[in-house]
Amino acid sequence: MKKWCKKTGLLCLLFATALVLCSCQKPSDIKKEASAWAYDTFCSVTVYGYNGEDLQAYFETQLQEGQMLFSPDAQGRVFAQTDGQVLAFQNMREARLMEMAWQLSSWTDGAFDLTVAPLSALWNVSGADRPPEEQAIADALSLVGYQTVACTEEALRFSHVGQGLDLGAFGKGNGGDLVADRLQTGGALGGMVDLGGNITLFGSKPDGSLFRIGVRDPADDGGGVLGILNLTDTSVVTSGGYERYFEYEGVRYHHILDPRTGWPAESDLLSATVVCSDGALADMLSTACFLLGEERALALLQTVNASDKWDNAQAILVLRTGEVVVTSGLSQRFSLTSSAYRLKESPL
Ligand code: ADP
Ligand code: MG
Repeated sequence: MKKWCKKTGLLCLLFATALVLCSCQKPSDIKKEASAWAYDTFCSVTVYGYNGEDLQAYFETQLQEGQMLFSPDAQGRVFAQTDGQVLAFQNMREARLMEMAWQLSSWTDGAFDLTVAPLSALWNVSGADRPPEEQAIADALSLVGYQTVACTEEALRFSHVGQGLDLGAFGKGNGGDLVADRLQTGGALGGMVDLGGNITLFGSKPDGSLFRIGVRDPADDGGGVLGILNLTDTSVVTSGGYERYFEYEGVRYHHILDPRTGWPAESDLLSATVVCSDGALADMLSTACFLLGEERALALLQTVNASDKWDNAQAILVLRTGEVVVTSGLSQRFSLTSSAYRLKESPL
């Protein structure tokens, strides 16, 4: 009986201590999570110190707002219905995105091309089971070419009916920026927005530590990581041929297309991860770097970083050889965890 009393007393004490601890939890420590399907992928958010309206509803509204930019079709494309059709920008965000996408199309000589829509729609990689006919590829390619659209601060003007804009290479990066901006303005102290692997980070975790982000091992279909990045207040975006693809007669056909050939891009890279405080730019650059291959990708990053118009961008390039190039701005932030890879010195 005595023993039982002692035990009960101890339990009561523990319970009371737990209650006191719970009630002492600072608002900045409170963690909230939400998830939703958007951009044809699984999206989630983890936020600390958020005290606003229902997070789930708020997250869904912000995701929807991001997807409304340029009023695209369900696949994230906008097509010209007439020759000379003008797409007037509805806000600063649209104008800035188009300026950035046009500039990158030009800097990459059209390897990255904002007008790739007719070709990407033809391939329809998410739904197809075989590659298109050569003639259909040639027809689609005749409508692709960033030089044939005129881009000003106010609008984009297509030349021909059937030309189109593809938002796939930067929609999620932009969406992550939008959600993170709104949460921060709404008073959240820190958080991570994950739109299908496009990560946007802001503020800090309650213990002050940085966010740990795994960089996918592109050769591991099981989703393993090859290294870890420790970061905050930036976006981390990876492009690779392993993300979306179909297989036909034993060959994989992925969703990043080379406008010079009309076929899925082949370079010396397995993946390109870009870190940049502008999430849309990180997203565009990851696609562009993957398309260009190691040497031209590093030259592109140098061009971007030399321009005072755009935010600084750093990268992790995973080569087919198993080497990993980490640009200097990330060397202190990245640790290689897989023994299947080795670091290669970066000239940047
Ligand atoms: P994910 O969408 O898997 O995150 P990316 O950000 O690399 O991958 O974007 C791939 C998307 O970009 C494709 O699904 C397509 O919509 C678009 N795209 C494909 N090829 C090109 C290209 N050469 N230039 C610009 N956009 C492209
Ligand atoms: Mg991208």
